Amino acid sequence: MGTPAPPPTRISPLVRGIKGACPHCGGRGIFASIAELRDACPTCRYSFVREEGYWLGAMIVIFAIVLVLFGSWFVGGMLLTWPDVPWNTLMIGGILLNGIVPFVLYGWSKSIWVGLDMTFNPARFEEFAPDEQA
Ligand SMILES: [Zn+2]
Repeated sequence: MGTPAPPPTRISPLVRGIKGACPHCGGRGIFASIAELRDACPTCRYSFVREEGYWLGAMIVIFAIVLVLFGSWFVGGMLLTWPDVPWNTLMIGGILLNGIVPFVLYGWSKSIWVGLDMTFNPARFEEFAPDEQA
């Protein structure tokens, strides 16, 4: 196997991460569960955790996603219903959104983060796990 060719363009790791695929090779099946990536890509063996505390970046990504969704929900709801804004509905929806989205989309935020990081810091040879005997 060995190390696959690098991503075709500078931005492709990010695009692949947004699509929920391996940022390096575009392979699928990188999720262990809804909130977890596998340790390494099943296709190219790229190890997703680059350093200690690496998922802090994914938390920033999920914050940004929640912020955009919450802002769209709240401002959009206000604009669409003005002047009779259903404040309670907006508030309850906003609380649910803030409570649920981070859990449901956390795994996705990780693949986006890996792609974003890889866009600026391309994968290095030593970041690929050795082939498993299987
Ligand atoms: Zn891969």
